[in-house]
Amino acid sequence: MFKPAATDFPPVFFDTHSHCLIKNNIPDLPSIFYRAKAAGVKIILDCAVNSNDFFERHRILMEQKGVYLSAGASPECAGGQISKHVETLEQILQNYIITAVGETGIDLFHHQNLKEQIILLEKQLVLAEKYEKPVILHIRNAYPEIIPVLKNYKIRYINHCFSGNADDLYSMLELGSYISFAGNITYKNSVHLVEALKLTPRNRLLLETDSPFLSPAPFRGKNNEPALLAQTAEFVRKALGADETLFTQIFANALAAFNISTPEFL
Ligand SMILES: [Zn+2]
Repeated sequence: MFKPAATDFPPVFFDTHSHCLIKNNIPDLPSIFYRAKAAGVKIILDCAVNSNDFFERHRILMEQKGVYLSAGASPECAGGQISKHVETLEQILQNYIITAVGETGIDLFHHQNLKEQIILLEKQLVLAEKYEKPVILHIRNAYPEIIPVLKNYKIRYINHCFSGNADDLYSMLELGSYISFAGNITYKNSVHLVEALKLTPRNRLLLETDSPFLSPAPFRGKNNEPALLAQTAEFVRKALGADETLFTQIFANALAAFNISTPEFL
């Protein structure tokens, strides 16, 4: 198991949720990874949106050290052929090395087909249990709906881009979930997220960019990229009144959450 020093200087970061190929051209990637490395980002988890996006992501990113891949079908896929998504996912799980299943979950902000979303989610939870993978959860306006579903599985959950209230947070923590905060925690109207951050045990805390979305202040509205994780991390450190050992802890949390015992770095 990777043992971080008490404090790493300069600090090291793990971007636990990024979409490297969305909005980015392949020729841009070397400079994106270069800037990430320069900002201390050692590892990036490139997250799936659609079961079919895996093959291109794998082809382009597999050679890149320090980039890990998930495979999954997000709630928007519930409008399509659910069984096709699930079939593809199982093929991927059987034939490729992936780090996690997801993002999957329930999104009642963008979509109203709750029944189909639950079916697609549960089929992925079954696969994650079978292949012993952690699951990256996308939850939007849907904590009361998703929590009873999650309770039925013995899975390590990662709540990506946490957006709930204190009760939602406690329910997720009770399930053993890791809680990941994205750049939107730096926005002026995100006081509730800062409150949730303060209630999150330090050993369950993760950070992510969700790039190219959710650029942290002062870059809000511009394209996000893994290098900007350092901005969010510094905001979080100050909000918690912590010193830089916090970053070492969060990095170790991410390795534990995703079962990475001998990490490769960017
Ligand atoms: Zn995402």
